[in-house]
Amino acid sequence: MKKFDYYQPETLKEAFSLMEKFKGRAKYVAGGTDLIVRIKQKVIQPGALISLRGIDALKSIRHNGGLSMGSMTLIRNMERDAVITRDYPALKQAVSVLANPQIRNVATVGGNFCNSAPCADCAPPLLVMEAILMIDGPGGTREVPVDDFFKGPGENCMDSVEILKAIKVPDIRNPKFKTGMAFLKTGRVAQDLAIASAAALVSMDGKICRECRLAAGSVGPIPLRLRRAEKLVKGEEITPELLEQVGKTVEQEVSPITDIRSTEEYRRLVTGVMIRRGIGQAIGMVNGEL
Ligand SMILES: Cc1cc2nc3c(=O)[nH]c(=O)nc-3n(C[C@H](O)[C@H](O)[C@H](O)COP(=O)(O)OP(=O)(O)OC[C@H]3O[C@@H](n4cnc5c(N)ncnc54)[C@H](O)[C@@H]3O)c2cc1C
Repeated sequence: MKKFDYYQPETLKEAFSLMEKFKGRAKYVAGGTDLIVRIKQKVIQPGALISLRGIDALKSIRHNGGLSMGSMTLIRNMERDAVITRDYPALKQAVSVLANPQIRNVATVGGNFCNSAPCADCAPPLLVMEAILMIDGPGGTREVPVDDFFKGPGENCMDSVEILKAIKVPDIRNPKFKTGMAFLKTGRVAQDLAIASAAALVSMDGKICRECRLAAGSVGPIPLRLRRAEKLVKGEEITPELLEQVGKTVEQEVSPITDIRSTEEYRRLVTGVMIRRGIGQAIGMVNGEL
């Protein structure tokens, strides 16, 4: 492994000027669970690592009507957070099956997004919750909807100096309707990266679905929002026949590849099944069955 310098700034400003000094030869590091693996595999060989651990502005979870998570929030702390467990159960389900407890104790939510893997477990639930990413750079802060963040495998809309500061999730409770949500994941074994993952959010007005948001991971170059399938459900009574149709639409809407973890065909099929089950579980939550 090539030697690199290591810095631990205490402010965002300090981090930006260090990154500018290294002119693209440095990398930010959060928990390091992705980055250090890639350095060890010699996929990347940065001249310096700039740790985000010492920056207080990136820490802590706040509940202020909605939810605001500093990018350095540990996956383990999200898993244990009482408000996430109560109000954002799809996110709780996702972080509870991300890797294993050892990884969850050091991995961060910001790293999960900035790594920009199509299989990032936090992405599908935060897509259906329409989260906003707060991105800071030397020129100030910009807000990016999570749907616009990912650009390709390992690519996102941030430049190399920018830092993901926080992720904001609006209050998804609707005073007029009852909202339920779910996250499902299929892997080869427990604690593995997803073969496919799926998230569903529904707001129900009696038997009619007023809002339906669906998303999937590991079945395209980026985590995907499934808008064609959503349109079939919005404004409708959710019957077994409709769910069948939704499953078939999802199979067509995703664009998976065959790789070491699974085949393209299986990924299409299992995502259709998981979206159907996810909608069922979300309705079960609305009806107080779960
Ligand atoms: C054994 C193993 C199992 C895993 N299983 C899963 C799994 O089941 N599901 C899953 O989703 N992931 C899994 N991962 C991947 C990884 O653990 C997660 O993606 C984790 O959330 C990454 O967070 P981190 O803090 O360790 O990121 P790091 O490795 O520190 O950083 C990842 C990337 O993001 C950049 N970065 C980090 N934070 C910021 C920021 N705030 N602003 C700008 N750039 C930033 C870094 O420069 C780097 O390029 C696994 C990894 C391992 C080693």
